Formats: sequence, structure tokens, C-alpha cells
Amino acid sequence: MHTIAVLGAGTMGHGIAQVAAACGYRVILRDTEREALIRAVQAIEKNLAKAIRLAKLTEDERDATLQRIRGAVSLSEARDADLFIEAVPEQLELKQAALREVQSIATRPFIFATNTSSLSITEIAKSALHPERVIGMHFFNPVHLLRLLEIVVGERTSEETVETARVVGRRMKKETITVRDVPGFASSRLGVALGLEAMRMIEQGVASAKDIDTAMELGYNHPMGPLRLTDLVGLDVRLHIAEYLHRALGSESFRPPEILRRMVEQGKLGRKTGEGFYTWED
Ligand code: NAD
Repeated sequence: MHTIAVLGAGTMGHGIAQVAAACGYRVILRDTEREALIRAVQAIEKNLAKAIRLAKLTEDERDATLQRIRGAVSLSEARDADLFIEAVPEQLELKQAALREVQSIATRPFIFATNTSSLSITEIAKSALHPERVIGMHFFNPVHLLRLLEIVVGERTSEETVETARVVGRRMKKETITVRDVPGFASSRLGVALGLEAMRMIEQGVASAKDIDTAMELGYNHPMGPLRLTDLVGLDVRLHIAEYLHRALGSESFRPPEILRRMVEQGKLGRKTGEGFYTWED
């Protein structure tokens, strides 16, 4: 494993490219939008500058990391990559199209990893020439700070592919967990269940958002309470995932609470709109 191609240079793609380059891989960061590539490099430079200020990185390490990343609009520049990690928007057709496009340009055997947070790996791999080499590598935001890598095993993913993903994850200094390809995997299923229950507690007047969050932060040592986290993720994103899990798992725990639907209708989407369960001023 020498070269990693990251497809999509948005929130997740730039972070994945950064950690891959930092641990020594050559990285091709591909986005269809040139503007997105420019923003991605700026974001990486900002992250690295902060690490230098905190004395976690030297200037030489920063330079070496940046030199290992090459931005590209054309996918053909990534034709000799060993591993493709896609972080394009969360739509099945886009993920499948990305895989088809990779198949059409690749010059050597490759693993195709998807960073999807909810779609089925098996579905994404449906039209794959080598479904045994398709896998989920679910990173968390911000990628350079959060240590979890959830490896999701599709119905036809081979043990060799799983082992390679683990090796790459460990080299990126991630703690890997391995999960079967079921809706919500392990992380979203538990995280969303907690967030939705916290919302029902608000509806029932059990306590304020701040007190519910404090219960989890101080009582259970969660770094951030479920409602503050929902504000950061975006209430619309959470509603979308809850609807999907409710349908897919058929469990009442995932039925979206009224308060969530109402707040989304009112445009209270969390930090990005300035208001959610909290008021945000930054
Ligand atoms: P984003 O919208 O920030 O970035 C997506 C990028 O992909 C855009 O820059 C877009 O121009 C580019 N793109 C679209 N089609 C492309 C193609 N065919 N080839 C290359 N680039 C293409 O999205 P994001 O938040 O980074 O999410 C990406 C994936 O990661 C989604 O599947 C999402 O569910 C998952 N994810 C997101 C988070 C999060 O907190 N944002 C966390 C975990 C997983």
C-alpha cells in the first residue's frame, strides 16, 4: 500500500487526505470542483499550523505532509492508486458512479473504501467487478482529531480486504472497530438513539438541554452531550438518518420526535443556522 486516492475534498475528504499524508502515504486528493480543492488545502494548512502552535508537529513534518498531497480534478491522475477512499456526498448513485469511474481508469488491483455514514456497503458494491475488495472505512469529523475508524464489512468483502483496512487504519493512528454491514453500523445506531431520546426528554420537560447534556458529560464522561452534538452535526442531517434507521430497522426508538421535525421546518438546524437546542454566535 503506497498511494491512496481520496475522492471528494469536502469536510471529510480533506481530513482523510491529511491523516493519510501525515503517516507517509502518497495522496491524490480528487474533487470535481477546483474550488473545493483550494478550500481543502487551506483547511489542511490551518490544521497543521495549529498542530505546530501546540508543539505537536514540526515545520519539517508539516512540509513533508503537504508535499505528499497532490490535488486533482481529473481522476486519471489517480489511476495507479492502491486504495481509493471515497468521501463524495451521501447518495447511493454517486457512490456507485464513483466506483464505476475508478474501475474504468485503474491500472492495477485496488481496494475501494467508502466513508458512507449510513448507506449499505453491499449495495454500493453491487456493480463492482471485485466486490471482495469493497469495504466501509467510516472516519469521524474532524478526522485529524477523532481516533475512531469504523470498518464496515459488506456481504462479499474478503477477510484480506478487512485486514488491509485495519493495517491502514492503525498506520493512520486510528483505533479500528469491525462491524457488519447493517443500517447505522455501530456508531450511528447508538449515537442517534441517544440523541433522539434526549429530544423526547426535552419534549416531556424532564430537564433543559444544558442539564441533559451535563448529565452525560459529567455522569458518563461523554466529551459532549447528545443535544450539543446534534447541533454540531445539524438537525436536518440527524432527521434524515433517524427516518432512514426507523424505516430500515423498524424500531420505535428511531421514530423522529415531533420537536426534531418542527425545529427543522423552522430552519433551526443547529450551529450552521445559529440556532438549534442552543444559540450559536460564532
Ligand atoms: P461534503 O459535501 O463536505 O464534500 C463532498 C465533496 O465531494 C464536495 O467537495 C463535492 O464537490 C465532491 N464531489 C462530488 N462528486 C464527486 C466525485 N464524483 N468525485 C470527486 N468529488 C466529488 O461532504 P462530507 O461532509 O465530507 O461527506 C462526505 C461523505 O462522508 C458522506 O458520505 C458522508 O455521509 C460521510 N461522512 C460525513 C461526516 C461529517 O460529519 N460531515 C462524518 C462521517 C461520514
